[in-house]
Amino acid sequence: MPVINRIAAFHDDMTAWRHHLHENPEMSYQEHETAAFVAEKLRSFGIEVTEGIGGTGLVGVLQGNGGDGPTIGLRADMDALAIEEKNDFDHVSKRAGVMHACGHDGHTTMLLGAARYLAETRNFAGRVVFIFQPAEEMGGDDGGAARMIQEGLFKQFPCEEIYGIHNWPGMDVGDFATKAGLMMASGDGFEITVKSNGMHAAQPHKGVDLVLTAAHIIVGLQQVASRNTNPLQAIVVSATQIHGGDAYNVLPNEVVIRGTVRAFSNEARAGAEPNLRRVVDGICHATGADYVLDYTRQYPTLVNEETSAQTALAAGAKVFQNVNPNPPQTMVVEDFAFMLEDRSGCYGWIGNGPEDDGCILHSAWYDFNDAALPFGASYFAAIIEGK
Ligand SMILES: [Zn+2]
Ligand SMILES: [Zn+2]
Repeated sequence: MPVINRIAAFHDDMTAWRHHLHENPEMSYQEHETAAFVAEKLRSFGIEVTEGIGGTGLVGVLQGNGGDGPTIGLRADMDALAIEEKNDFDHVSKRAGVMHACGHDGHTTMLLGAARYLAETRNFAGRVVFIFQPAEEMGGDDGGAARMIQEGLFKQFPCEEIYGIHNWPGMDVGDFATKAGLMMASGDGFEITVKSNGMHAAQPHKGVDLVLTAAHIIVGLQQVASRNTNPLQAIVVSATQIHGGDAYNVLPNEVVIRGTVRAFSNEARAGAEPNLRRVVDGICHATGADYVLDYTRQYPTLVNEETSAQTALAAGAKVFQNVNPNPPQTMVVEDFAFMLEDRSGCYGWIGNGPEDDGCILHSAWYDFNDAALPFGASYFAAIIEGK
């Protein structure tokens, strides 16, 4: 069986919803119209809706006709990114500088599709909790998942298990991948500000050259991954921004470096910060610069619980053409990891088709593949009906 027939029958409706959401993208915690759209759809299916959990987050609850059973959470994310869309199709973003470049329009639509089907059929025991979270892209303690949990998501709606999916460009439509255990990395952020007096570029001996100091720091940071971390515990340290200087003949009095640290184990993650601090401190001591280092722990590693992963793989096998039970781990991070710290569950990837013409996540040429909509919706439904 590929997709559920009844869901395939309203593929056109889902495509229209997805295009509407794509045309009207909203940034993290600004998802007011999106949340209203979702709430209206859920209510039209006969689902009880609670709004305003974690800002613009909302939850729908549906009881099955099969009597007592587990409460299972299904989660989608709703926010868009600050990217100026470069596509020229009809459903291109109407909002300058904002774009659904991560496919959360598709995720929201697939969960709505599952909600519509499950509300029509109610062929399951227990309850489904449809979780529409804001601000996935923000992450950290201020991100949508953590905030919904802080505001009582799982106290008000005590889910025994939770499931989520993300589209994955480079995997064929109709393909699914997940596995038990570690699947995605932890992510932390750092900001290093080096300071001193500025001076004439022709008289570097009259102060501390912070551009050179910053250059040493960027090179030195590579030691944290390559020399200070157990080589069997991969981490990534990437300096992604450097800001300093306004004139060709002035050495600036401040340079800022920002970046990210990704890790697959708590041990490697815990070691990164003190190692990074020692490198920065040592280099600044050597050059004479002052510094301020802010290190922020953002996302935990994403770990799928064993039994839930088996449930996800079994549901996937009913719906998808190909199921990969052992996909390679990725250093990408995911806000759903906060929910998986709180509840048992499983996160999976569904194919979005080739990465041709810039169709990669967070690209200005990306678009969610509508052909994947019935697969994702059927997968969510199969989890609930299989329980
Ligand atoms: Zn994203
Ligand atoms: Zn995303």
